[in-house]
Amino acid sequence: MSSIVHYECRNPDHIRAGSRRGIGGTVIHHGSVGYCDGVNVDGAHRWVPTGGVPIEYLYDGSPAVDGPGTYRANDGALVHVRPSAGGKLLFEVDGGRFAARTDLHVGVKLSDDPDWPDTKPVGIAFLPAD
Ligand SMILES: [Zn+2]
Repeated sequence: MSSIVHYECRNPDHIRAGSRRGIGGTVIHHGSVGYCDGVNVDGAHRWVPTGGVPIEYLYDGSPAVDGPGTYRANDGALVHVRPSAGGKLLFEVDGGRFAARTDLHVGVKLSDDPDWPDTKPVGIAFLPAD
């Protein structure tokens, strides 16, 4: 069930604050429902009438990249996400025809292993036994 939202907050500081992805953020404004997507923001909303839309229209509901691993993009390409030395994440997209694309929506996470589904040799430890 989705809420119909009549106002959305367009305060640039709130937009930059990061998306709350529809969790909370609804405010009653002039007797109608308003939605602010900003995380950890309070007041100073800049309300813009939406004409009445489902709340899902006002934020990006696609799953977020939550760390290194292999993800499936919405067009089927595999996206390998690796940690880099600088602490940022490196994105690598499989497939020649997808690699040239500039706008890729990352969907479900398939594995925590950035190299999935490539198999690596499994390390086996030999324990001393008498
Ligand atoms: Zn706001």
